[in-house]
Amino acid sequence: MAGGEAIKKSTSSTEGSPRILAIHAHPDDVEFQCAGTLAHLAKQGCAITIATMTPGDCGSAEYSAEEIAEIRRGEARASAAILGAEYVCLEFRDLSITVDNVSRGKVCECLRRARPDIVLTAPPVDYMTDHELTSVLVREACFSGSVPNYSTRQWSPAPPLRGIPHLYYVDSIEGVDTFGRPVKPDFIVDVTATFETKQKMLACHESQRNWLRKQHGIDESMANGERWSAARGKEIGVKYGEAFRQHTGHPYPADNRLAALLDMKT
Ligand SMILES: [Zn+2]
Repeated sequence: MAGGEAIKKSTSSTEGSPRILAIHAHPDDVEFQCAGTLAHLAKQGCAITIATMTPGDCGSAEYSAEEIAEIRRGEARASAAILGAEYVCLEFRDLSITVDNVSRGKVCECLRRARPDIVLTAPPVDYMTDHELTSVLVREACFSGSVPNYSTRQWSPAPPLRGIPHLYYVDSIEGVDTFGRPVKPDFIVDVTATFETKQKMLACHESQRNWLRKQHGIDESMANGERWSAARGKEIGVKYGEAFRQHTGHPYPADNRLAALLDMKT
């Protein structure tokens, strides 16, 4: 796969187009919140890795956890392939993500292998703890990744990162906190031109479309993707948009590299 090839060839985080890691809790979370932006970055020649913490093993009422996990890994891989991106599953389990030292090591190792310059991940506050704890683990891994003496205790460990990557949070579900209050994004990317690619990627998650159809009677995943992207787009006067906040606290890089890369005025 193109992304995987690029990872083997490049160990530098300073040469050529920036390397991107989009990591969220479950298969289709990345697609829903930032696939349009990833498609822009892919067009610019960025090597992209899409990672999910779990293989979505609770997302079915008809298959066993292992069966649906296998199906969903395949769907996520097919979706990533549309961008020429690599797909990685960290093999946590749905509703079971915890912040402990074993989890820290696994997530840090994922970052050290992907060697990203820019990381997109789950927001700190969202509707479920899998999302929130993913956010915590990824934020910590951006820091620990560059600490030379931090051991991930993983098989065949990758070398430490050269520095802390630029870290961004995607939207929470419906852009609200746990009390239902709107969370103001830092900036919104116009994804009108790449929206078709985003929908194609979402469509790869066929098992979820079936599951939601069964649970709710309609194909909600595609309609929700359309509705939410349109709502964010409207805020900046375009058809479709995706919103982000940047983690700018000490000692994370605070210049907006993602916006600069997308040629945005923020
Ligand atoms: Zn999720």
